[in-house]
Amino acid sequence: MTIDRPIPMVDLKGQYKKIKPEVDKVIAEVVESAYFIGGPWVKEFACNLAGYTGAKYVIPCGNGTDALQIALMALDLQPGDEVITCPFTFVATVEVISLMGLTPVFVDVHEDTMMLDETLLEAAITDKTKAIIPVHLFGQTANMESIMEIANRHDIAVIEDNAQAIGADYIFSDGTKKQAGTIGHIGTTSFFPSKNLGCFGDGGAIFTDDEHLFQRMTMIVNHGMKVRYHHEDIGVNSRLDSIQAAVLDIKLKHLNEYNAARQAAAERYDQLLKNVSGVKTPVRSKNSTHVFHQYTLQLDGGRDQLAAYFKEQKIAHGVYYPIPLHLQKAYSGYGFKEGDFPISEKLCKSVISLPMHTELSDEVQKIIVQKLEVGLQTSVNL
Ligand SMILES: *Cc1c(COP(=O)(O)O)cnc(C)c1O
Repeated sequence: MTIDRPIPMVDLKGQYKKIKPEVDKVIAEVVESAYFIGGPWVKEFACNLAGYTGAKYVIPCGNGTDALQIALMALDLQPGDEVITCPFTFVATVEVISLMGLTPVFVDVHEDTMMLDETLLEAAITDKTKAIIPVHLFGQTANMESIMEIANRHDIAVIEDNAQAIGADYIFSDGTKKQAGTIGHIGTTSFFPSKNLGCFGDGGAIFTDDEHLFQRMTMIVNHGMKVRYHHEDIGVNSRLDSIQAAVLDIKLKHLNEYNAARQAAAERYDQLLKNVSGVKTPVRSKNSTHVFHQYTLQLDGGRDQLAAYFKEQKIAHGVYYPIPLHLQKAYSGYGFKEGDFPISEKLCKSVISLPMHTELSDEVQKIIVQKLEVGLQTSVNL
């Protein structure tokens, strides 16, 4: 059978078609009401998301980057305080640390799961360390049990960057489970359209079980005020608008189904790639379920050639991430150098993510893997 190419990385149109009547109806309702900011849909969604995740409090906000910044703002940190994260992630995590005048401190990642290596944490902690931001990369959770144990022992706050793993479960050593984003003192997420729970624009949310932090962050997202025009705190303007909240509330009902579709697609890729040499398929963490925001391979070699071949064949793919944060020009002022975080640097040269979304079919995946094999052969022969 032939499949129309290009093959996209995500299929948001296909996903929308299946819920179009419901979504169109609620968008029309918001528009009719003209209650674009702060309408009842926002509260309703926050409440349902709290119910879904098990977080005590959910604060909707403008996007996942703001969510991280607001979380840091609520911790009352001083310029020069240190915040630990890892260099193999999206830039937002370190961006907000720098913007706040705080000092980013990196620890490297595990090669297998590509997430923060908690065994390196203790050595990176100083008197100035005030927060740790583990990133739940590609759809599974960092080792939260160890991270929380170390952080609590040193009285350090933990902010989980859960932009990529909403709906994933962390499994503690006693077998109990908690959802990603609800284990640290604060959790953040993003509703960027291609995220596992995506809206029709920008959106984000913050999770906490701490009443005091909830009150603070509720004020910060809205210009530092509780009572209108009484500003108790320096805040920001970061709101989830009514249309986004209404759409998200519908999509939240489908999130388990969406994540299951991603997991099924990942299993199919695993099978198809089983006997392809030079390719390491995603390693599942034993402490976490995997909701496959990305299906990311590690290649023994030939990554750039394969990417070029995919491009020529009109098969979308992603390189998340091509440059580790410590080697980005914008952060050169901190004095990091090549060799500081060797695993992150190696991953940046070897990873490639295949199309992954809720509408992915077996037929399309077969073509992607066939082409991958040809692409890898081509690169070997170069
Ligand atoms: C998407 C993402 C963010 C930022 O979210 P936005 O809503 O785009 O601001 C932050 N961290 C990680 C790990 C992400 O993947």
